[in-house]
Amino acid sequence: MPVLVASDLDRTLIYSAAALALTMPDPEAPRLLCVEVYESRPLSYLTETAAGLLTELGDTAVFVPTTTRTREQYQRISLPGPPPSYAICANGGHLLVDGVSDPDWHARVTARLADECASLDEVGEHLMRAADPVWVRKQRIAEDLFAYLVVERELLPEDWVKELAVWAENRGWTVSLQGRKIYVVPKPLTKSAAVREVARRTGAELTLAAGDSLLDADLLLAADRGWRPGHGELADSGWTAPAITALPERGVLAGERILREFLTAARGA
Ligand SMILES: [Mg+2]
Repeated sequence: MPVLVASDLDRTLIYSAAALALTMPDPEAPRLLCVEVYESRPLSYLTETAAGLLTELGDTAVFVPTTTRTREQYQRISLPGPPPSYAICANGGHLLVDGVSDPDWHARVTARLADECASLDEVGEHLMRAADPVWVRKQRIAEDLFAYLVVERELLPEDWVKELAVWAENRGWTVSLQGRKIYVVPKPLTKSAAVREVARRTGAELTLAAGDSLLDADLLLAADRGWRPGHGELADSGWTAPAITALPERGVLAGERILREFLTAARGA
């Protein structure tokens, strides 16, 4: 029986320069591997040690990148190790099988969203009205499934995200603040539903997971064992659950630790 490893990517396995959180003296800093280039500039990294662990993990378990990124944003990441047979993008809205979105899965997800929560149009219009150009840098619709804003955190009014979260909750949507991005996502659009589908298709008996943000909480709860780093929305809110280990490591070293934990657990299964 294969072991399924479903992991969030950004600020869980891969880190932007701003999120590395290196605290050691420079000569002791780990060597980093760049795994994403955007507009000709390096954008995301993991440690060289983590790259080796990820390659081993790909040979040991069914590794499923599980991200809120759009397919386009996901496809510019070049992870070490064998190409994953399955990947989850758009917070569960797209299930990639050998790199191609499964149309049946996508149709099931969109049917559920139409039934169970307010429309993306309504949410988009509200954001347009409520967000202030003083601190909004970009407003984006992702894959016709959810919306996000890129904001100046220093200028963002303290209660704005909380007020948005209350408005969204009443309409079946959820809000997640990650670095400079505010995500507004339908509650039925989950990473966990897509991971359950991959578990069904692969016959996996054990699912391991990791993630750092509120959008990863359902993923962690659906797994048999999970890990979260010492930074991020979940850590900041003190979120925990019985099968979840809260790691002390922060930044890119947390990514290395998570991969070590995955490998140990997968080999022990
Ligand atoms: Mg993340």
